Amino acid sequence: MSVEHVDTLIIGGGQAGLAMSEHLRAEGVPHLVLERHRIAERWRSERWESLVANGPAWHDRYSSKTFDHIDPDGFAPASMIVDYLEEHARQIEAPVRCGVEVTRVTRKADGSGFDVETSQGAISARSVVAATGPFQRPLIPTVVPETAGLMQLHSAQYRNPAQLPQGNVLVIGAGSSGVQIADELQRAGKQVYLSVGPHDRPPRRYRGKDFVWWLGALGLWNAEACEPAMEHVTIAVSGAHGGHTVDFRALAEQGITLLGRAEQFADGVMHFAPDLARSIAGGDANYLSMLDAADAYIAREGLDFPEEPDARLMRPDPACVQHPLEQLDLAAAGITTILWATGYGLDFGWLQVDSFDDKGRPVHQRGVSPVPGLYFLGLAWLSRRASPFIWGVWHDAKYLAGQIAASR
Ligand SMILES: Cc1cc2nc3c(=O)[nH]c(=O)nc-3n(C[C@H](O)[C@H](O)[C@H](O)COP(=O)(O)OP(=O)(O)OC[C@H]3O[C@@H](n4cnc5c(N)ncnc54)[C@H](O)[C@@H]3O)c2cc1C
Repeated sequence: MSVEHVDTLIIGGGQAGLAMSEHLRAEGVPHLVLERHRIAERWRSERWESLVANGPAWHDRYSSKTFDHIDPDGFAPASMIVDYLEEHARQIEAPVRCGVEVTRVTRKADGSGFDVETSQGAISARSVVAATGPFQRPLIPTVVPETAGLMQLHSAQYRNPAQLPQGNVLVIGAGSSGVQIADELQRAGKQVYLSVGPHDRPPRRYRGKDFVWWLGALGLWNAEACEPAMEHVTIAVSGAHGGHTVDFRALAEQGITLLGRAEQFADGVMHFAPDLARSIAGGDANYLSMLDAADAYIAREGLDFPEEPDARLMRPDPACVQHPLEQLDLAAAGITTILWATGYGLDFGWLQVDSFDDKGRPVHQRGVSPVPGLYFLGLAWLSRRASPFIWGVWHDAKYLAGQIAASR
């Protein structure tokens, strides 16, 4: 069987793989990008139709390429992100081969590189960059059995309200995906219940600047590690409807019933932790701490930004927060669908090298694995908070390209 030889093999044709290709080209490193489906596949088939970027177009982009067909303060729809990434691939003449899945990567016995098995034959690579995404495998907790007679789907499988059967919906998870999908379903006429856990909910804009601008000014994009206490705290931000601060009390006023964390399910009844008020208060504290930090920055720098005292006004607690339901008989509540917005895990089953810890997490330093020639890109906290986002991954790719070039 013939074996194709490549210098550096990039696995994954999303924003990370394409950024890697751009920087390897600049460094003069020959490479190939393998993508099992199409460029930017996740934005085509694993996101809901109305999704827009979480950050404004001036920010959520590569440093080397602007969005041309949208106001820089606007939020690019998913289809525009696909077009943007495809255009970028064309412009940099990225050597992308679509429809090729990598099924196994092993280290050569003499340590001189990697043997790669794909759906279309064998490849020998000196270096490998794993750019298969921070969100690879939708996670659904094993709470409700499949036999419960309900439609259960993950946010990665959700497309639009028409996909759901008649009846009410329980959305579990209130990060950016859960709140946006709950809002869309409620606006489409469904009765929606939303299970809320610990969360951050930063202000979309404050004193004339977007939240992503504030993260930059306050140095928070550069945070190098998630504080251990915050690992299970999701973040609720939204670019939908022109971008707005996620406000759970406003969602309740709109008609959504807020619930605590879903804990267990038995005999058709879902049980919720008595933690809703605490989670809402935690989100408020995060929101107010951003305002405080921004005010302090403005004072320190002597900036003439407009005052915004109304930003500190909170709506009153809705009844569902004051007297939260601790259990819900799903059939009696007319619930026919559970939508799990419960995040993602990693899936590196194909990467059979000794670069994972005992929990299966990739071991690396800023993306450089202890296995010579192996690199990771696009993972959460790879080098800093910005790492899984489009502009952050571009800078991580630049660093890795420098490392790969130097190793040659
Ligand atoms: C709902 C949602 C909204 C988001 N919104 C934003 C946002 O607004 N702004 C932002 O910056 N980030 C956003 N993100 C985060 C992140 O930027 C995206 O998840 C982005 O898709 C990550 O890009 P990536 O290239 O690292 O990985 P992916 O986009 O996941 O690309 C990896 C590619 O690898 C391919 N692949 C996987 N395994 C193999 C294999 N074995 N062989 C060959 N190919 C393989 C996949 O098909 C995929 O195309 C969002 C994430 C989610 C879930």
